[in-house]
Order: sequence, then structure tokens, then C-alpha cells
Amino acid sequence: MALIVAKFGGTSVADIERIERAADKVAREVKAGNQVAVVVSAMSGVTNQLVGYCQDMSKMHDLREYDVVVSSGEQVTAGLMAMALQKKGVSARSWMGWQVPFKTNDIHGKARIQDIDTTELKARMVENEVAVIPGFQGVTDRNRISTLGRGGSDTSAVALAAALEADRCDIYTDVDGVYTTDPRIVPSARKIKRIAYEEMLELASLGTKVLQTRSVEISMKKNVPLQVLSSFEDHIGSDLPGTLVINEEDMMEQELVTGIAYSRDEAKITILNVPDVPGIAAKIFKPLAGANVNVDMIVQNISTDGKTTDMTFTVPHGELQRAIEVVEANEDLKGAEIKTAENVAKVSVVGIGMRSHAGVANTMFETLADKGVNIQVISTSEIKVSVLIEEDYTELAVRSLHAAYGLEGDAP
Ligand code: ADP
Ligand code: ASP
Ligand code: MG
Repeated sequence: MALIVAKFGGTSVADIERIERAADKVAREVKAGNQVAVVVSAMSGVTNQLVGYCQDMSKMHDLREYDVVVSSGEQVTAGLMAMALQKKGVSARSWMGWQVPFKTNDIHGKARIQDIDTTELKARMVENEVAVIPGFQGVTDRNRISTLGRGGSDTSAVALAAALEADRCDIYTDVDGVYTTDPRIVPSARKIKRIAYEEMLELASLGTKVLQTRSVEISMKKNVPLQVLSSFEDHIGSDLPGTLVINEEDMMEQELVTGIAYSRDEAKITILNVPDVPGIAAKIFKPLAGANVNVDMIVQNISTDGKTTDMTFTVPHGELQRAIEVVEANEDLKGAEIKTAENVAKVSVVGIGMRSHAGVANTMFETLADKGVNIQVISTSEIKVSVLIEEDYTELAVRSLHAAYGLEGDAP
């Protein structure tokens, strides 16, 4: 007997028929003698529609009310999933985030889970009742509904698996695993059978949508065995149908480059005529952090006149307006000029093998140069190289890099 958390993403619960198919998978686990908790997303497209309603109502809406609106999609699927299971003779009950409760902090719109009380869930799971939980939502100390940021149902599932000390967390989605890059852009991308937490964390945080970054962080920290697999395939008889996310030490071998990630959710801010004095970076970025703006890539130019310099950095699209307001209100930047660009994208190559091999960045720069793609900003870490480029070249860059690192074709 195993304790399993199974999460079904939006496309896997897109209509009644798919919810029933997902319920079949759960019923099979229960019949095999396993205890199961299910986490569901909203039906595909629903969260986007709800976000759209909030934006249409007001560009500067109250984030507490945003959470009330956008969390509702998951409530619908949780109820429907419980009904589908009951129809199949499986005992099931839905639990909203506030009922469990999934306690979060009060950063509305991108709250973090602080604690999950599993006492009641565990007691019922022992009696073979399947707990069905809406992903993405929680409750704050002030008893307000919160949401975990887009893609947050992955995080709900992994955090629940950690709290329940589950044997496995299965993330059912519309692809049968994690690929060397987005298979929608490169159809010949290769499925990765096993990937280290650290690499998955980089890929996710650099834009690979298949898992929310925070979910990988939690699984790495709490050692939750994580599997990404397809909700559309029948896995009977297959011991490793999807991709396993595991500890680096358990990896058999290391590729130089494991995958290519891209993110179109980038906006670039350049501040011209910044006084070139010690402490200026802190003076720029502290108020941005205070306003919850996630600053990513940063470059400071050298000063040509010894007095002023330029500072360029990137933020997610949704935070651009807030970032501009913060910079404009900054007393230390009087006389500076602000320029922004939204037509940029970040493309990254990731691989643990990079630690011990030189030349990865160079291959990237040469490949992009061959295709005439101009690099605007570069940032590196031990296991990744990222570049900021014009958004129109995203697909070209991903395809040519994927080929340049030999990632196509059958797994080695
Ligand atoms: P869900 O609704 O199940 O949460 P998502 O849309 O959030 O699913 O994530 C699955 C999608 O992630 C896939 O359809 C695929 O297009 C995209 N994706 C991007 N990069 C990758 C990758 N490297 N491997 C697999 N899928 C990827
Ligand atoms: N429904 C939410 C979203 O679309 C959460 C999720 O599906 O993970 O972002
Ligand atoms: Mg998702």
C-alpha cells in the first residue's frame, strides 16, 4: 500500500469526460489498495477567463478580491471530481483550501503555503475516503482566501504530499513527461526519464511551465518523489511512464546540457543617467523588493564620464507598471530617464554537467550569432546561461540551441 497525491492540471479536467477519465486513474489506484489524495486545477482556460474579468473590472483591482474570483475555478472541478469518484463507487469528499486548511501568508496573488493541517484528511484516508482538494488556493491568518500564483496547483499537490509524507506525488498533465524543451516548439524534443531536482528547479524558474517553480523547491527540500506523467495515456504495466524528478546523487549520468527553457514573461527597464556612486544599486533595488517586484537579470554599464551610468534589469510583465512607479518615485534617481521594452524574451540553457565543462556559453553565443539574434543581456549561474533577446526570435533561438547541443532524437 502506498500513499499517493495525484494532481490533474487544467487540460486533464477540461470537461466532464476528462474528469471521468482522471477519476478512472484515481479509482484504479484505490482498487490497488493505495490511499489517494487528489489535487485538481480549474478546467483549462477558466483561470485565464477569471483573470480577464478582474482586469476588465479594474486595472488596479484589490488583490484580495482577485483571489476570491480566480480561486473559484478549482472549487468547481473539486466538486465535480468528488462526484465522478462517487459515481465509480469510490468514497470521496472535497475540501476547499480554507477547510483543510492550507494556511498561507497574506501576499495575495502569489501567496506561499506555510502550513497544512492534515489531521482530518489522514483520518479519513485511512478509512479509504479519497480527499479531493482544489489546487492553487489557501487561506490567510486573517481568514481571507489566497492564491499561490499561476500554475500553483502543482505547489498545492507537492506541499500536500510533503505534509502527508506521501510515497509519491504524481503530476498528471497533457505531456507524458519533462522534455529537453517545450515539445510545442520543438516536436522532436526528447523525453527526459530522470532529472535532478536542481535542474528541474532552474528549468521551472526560467520559464518551463510544466511544473511551478515553488513545487520543485518544496519537493527538493522535503524529498518528495515527484513524477510528471500524461493523464491521457494508459500506464498499466509500465514502471516509469513519465519523468522522475530525483536527487542528483541518484542520477546515473549527467548530460552537459539537459534542457532549454524560455520565458516570454519578461519586460526590460533601463534607467539612464543613474548617479555612479557607491550604494546606488541598493537604493534602486531595495524599494523594488519592498513593492514585491521580482527583479531578475541586472546589468550596470561602466560609466564613461565617471559621474553617471545606466542600469538595465528585467521584471515580469505584470509587475512592470509597479516597477516604473517605484523607480519614478525614487528620490535618489532625480534626473534619471526611464526606458522600457516589453518585446523581449529570455532563453536559457540548463545542465548540471556545465559545472565541470567549459564552452557551453560560447556555443550558445555562436549559435545565436549564426542566426543573427542579438543578445541584450546575459546572466549565468553554475548550471545555466540565460540571454535576453528580442521576443520575435524566441522560437528560432530555442530550436537552434536545441539542435546545437544535440538534444534531439532518442534518449541515450
Ligand atoms: P497543466 O495544465 O497540466 O498544469 P501546463 O500547461 O501548466 O499543464 O504544463 C504543461 C505544458 O508545459 C505542456 O503542454 C508543454 O507545452 C509545456 N512545456 C514547456 N516546456 C516543457 C518541457 N520542457 N517539457 C514538457 N512540457 C513543457
Ligand atoms: N488554475 C491555476 C492556473 O491556471 C492554477 C493551476 O492550474 O495550476 O494558473
Ligand atoms: Mg501547470
